[in-house]
Amino acid sequence: MPPAASPPTLVWFRDDLRLADNPALTAAAGGDGPIVAVYVLDEESPGLRPLGGAARWWLAGSLRALATDLRARGVPLVLRRGPAAQRISELVEEVGAAEVVWNRRYDPAAAAVDDTVADVLAARGVGVATFQAALLVEPAQMRTKTGGPYGVFTPFLRALLALPEPRFPLPAPKAVRSLAGVPSDRLEDWDLEPTAPDWAAGFRSVWRPGEAGAGDRLTAFLDEGLKGYATLRDRPDRTSTSRLSPHLRFGEISPFQVFHAARHAREAGRGGTTGQDVDKFVAELVWREFAYHLLAQNPRLATANHQPRFDAFPWRSDASALHAWQRGRTGYPIVDAGMRELWTTGWMHNRVRMVVASFLVKHLLIDWREGERWFWDTLVDADPANNAASWQWVAGSGADAAPYFRIFNPVLQGEKFDPDGAYVKHWIPALRRLGAQHVHRPFDTPPLELAAAGVTLGRDYPAPLVDHKVARERALAALATIKT
Ligand SMILES: Cc1cc2nc3c(=O)[nH]c(=O)nc-3n(C[C@H](O)[C@H](O)[C@H](O)COP(=O)(O)OP(=O)(O)OC[C@H]3O[C@@H](n4cnc5c(N)ncnc54)[C@H](O)[C@@H]3O)c2cc1C
Repeated sequence: MPPAASPPTLVWFRDDLRLADNPALTAAAGGDGPIVAVYVLDEESPGLRPLGGAARWWLAGSLRALATDLRARGVPLVLRRGPAAQRISELVEEVGAAEVVWNRRYDPAAAAVDDTVADVLAARGVGVATFQAALLVEPAQMRTKTGGPYGVFTPFLRALLALPEPRFPLPAPKAVRSLAGVPSDRLEDWDLEPTAPDWAAGFRSVWRPGEAGAGDRLTAFLDEGLKGYATLRDRPDRTSTSRLSPHLRFGEISPFQVFHAARHAREAGRGGTTGQDVDKFVAELVWREFAYHLLAQNPRLATANHQPRFDAFPWRSDASALHAWQRGRTGYPIVDAGMRELWTTGWMHNRVRMVVASFLVKHLLIDWREGERWFWDTLVDADPANNAASWQWVAGSGADAAPYFRIFNPVLQGEKFDPDGAYVKHWIPALRRLGAQHVHRPFDTPPLELAAAGVTLGRDYPAPLVDHKVARERALAALATIKT
């Protein structure tokens, strides 16, 4: 049969909004028939968690970029909205597709949707082919010596690194045949982006969603950030990490691409990068793998304590303290700077994420799920596995979690990781005239020094919501009630 007469293959894009290293797209492009590229905004299938506001903003930009990149290859991106099983089978019918291909998802709720779609298609005699693209190693491949899943990071890391090296990334397909004239929703009609008020101005100034933006971000990191990563990655006052998280979250770049680029940077000695820097960076990528491994074991990772003893934890309900935390008004500068960075840019440095999360859970005794929900709504990289696993890790309720009794002192954390106060001063301009010795502890600063810096506590910057020592004792007492 001549190629033009071959039936189309549907390429179902999801959290893999890229052309390069996209095995599903590559497979379809290599077939005889034309392809139909589709994205389904599914907020209706049971169990799926709707995206938060910041992630919806990102998705809009990412889809726009994907549509542009596909169009440059002559392929329109078809947008449909609704339950995936219904929308995909309708489209198969409309275009007469013989096969649907996609890259696998590992969030159990999303994987269940994919299983349903596969069943519906199989029942109609439509072929399905799925591929590994989002994780270096699929959760089911990682098993301990006794055959169970891993619960502790270090052995997981060791075992993953002992496997054969992850495959090399695939190039973007050069020639792609496509089918024209397939009706599509208009992206603007999906209302993914804010209008009034437009809270995303700060996002636009720091981010460029899409595959090209991801590639540029990786290049900049390899040139300037990877060198020194092992020692500087905890410094929020430096551009010391890759900021690839939202790009990885939406699959605008794959972990295979990032892994091999980092390894290659070491071999090429790029920018003075050391083996230690690369090993540390790869270990962070493996934390992402580990989080998915945990989510695969526990679909309720975002809602249920991994350690059931935390079900009895005496969390406080305190709406005004929660609001102060959300808006960066706790009176602890490193916490407030982080929460303001999050609100303004949709992202926060990892060290600061740990400090603000610890503050909510331990100083304010507010349930980690409140924090997880706030992050879900405000992070551009809000990720079903990383967010839930990290919150449980900080709260002490997770697998291989930081022990609850280890309580960060937010002043000392600020002084250690933002020694000149540059990060705090950037996000809290009211404190910019305080010296480095005071900027992380305005409440401990002599009144004359505060006055000289133009700061009146309670007017320019809040007094602390809680006293660190008192809060620490209260948190330990709360923990004692659930000790086994
Ligand atoms: C309370 C809390 C909530 C978090 N929520 C999220 C989230 O929703 N989405 C998210 O991607 N990360 C989350 N993280 C993990 C981490 O903070 C971010 O991945 C990291 O800050 C992203 O910045 P980066 O890309 O510059 O990281 P880099 O240091 O450059 O690391 C490279 C990549 O490795 C992965 N990674 C790094 N650290 C971790 C980690 N601790 N756990 C899992 N993966 C990691 C990310 O994909 C990251 O992009 C959370 C951490 C905490 C403490």
